[in-house]
Amino acid sequence: MSIQLRRNFVPNNRRLQVVSSGGGTQSVCMVVLIYLGALPKPDLIVMADTEREASNVFEYHEKYVKPLCDEIGLEYVVIKKSDWVKNDITLASDDDAVLPGFFTEYNGRTPKGDLGKQPGYCSSHWKVEPIRKYLNNRFGERELTKRGVDFWIGMSFDERSRVKYPAGKWQKRYPLFEAEILREQAIQIVKDFGLPEPPRSACWMCPNRHDDEWVWMRENVPEDFEQACKFEKQLQAGFDWLYLHKSGVPIGEVIFTSKPKQVDIFDQFCDTGMCFV
Ligand code: SF4
Repeated sequence: MSIQLRRNFVPNNRRLQVVSSGGGTQSVCMVVLIYLGALPKPDLIVMADTEREASNVFEYHEKYVKPLCDEIGLEYVVIKKSDWVKNDITLASDDDAVLPGFFTEYNGRTPKGDLGKQPGYCSSHWKVEPIRKYLNNRFGERELTKRGVDFWIGMSFDERSRVKYPAGKWQKRYPLFEAEILREQAIQIVKDFGLPEPPRSACWMCPNRHDDEWVWMRENVPEDFEQACKFEKQLQAGFDWLYLHKSGVPIGEVIFTSKPKQVDIFDQFCDTGMCFV
């Protein structure tokens, strides 16, 4: 299989080129395009393991993605959060600063009867911070500050509004966007290459999961759903106004509706590896 891109993606090789893998379809599409030679080879691929990642994500990567990388000599590093930061449910420096965007009674119920939602910062403190620390440690902070790092983020051509090019040491590039590849095309490229559709990359306790995804997890990966139920109880021992589901009912007792209603930010945040919010 060979692919001709509408536009070439040209990296600035004076800077360190790092694919930021979120484990989702667009990240896998970037790996397939690199494997096929349609995208240039970066210096390495990194993925942050929040240590609450849905169990099928790493299985998929071990089985399908890592062998491709091994074949072309491309390093794929998984960074374990706790090896690099002490942030967990709360920020290491502030026990009251809860990081995931749980649903909360604290802000009062909305007119529709759903709970309010607190802002979520887990992606920044569970993914971005550990990866930056890892890279500084591995390549030398001073050296990296001089050289600069480009993170390749898997946003596609239809996500123009989310594409931003911050200046400074840590910058972003968007190979799929810059090569004018739409999300649907990214999915097709992965399928045409012969890989099954990758699972959504998300933590099993993520409150941004919509009802269909909770039901899917309960039926297909019951051990992950069980972990989420236990986790919610532990969370409420310290923060009794927080819930995983907007109904304010313990997750094990929610009557899910089949129509997705809950906020879904996987596509906007974690599925692409880093949100840099
Ligand atoms: S998947 Fe959800 S809980 Fe996990 S880091 Fe992303 S937003 Fe946070």
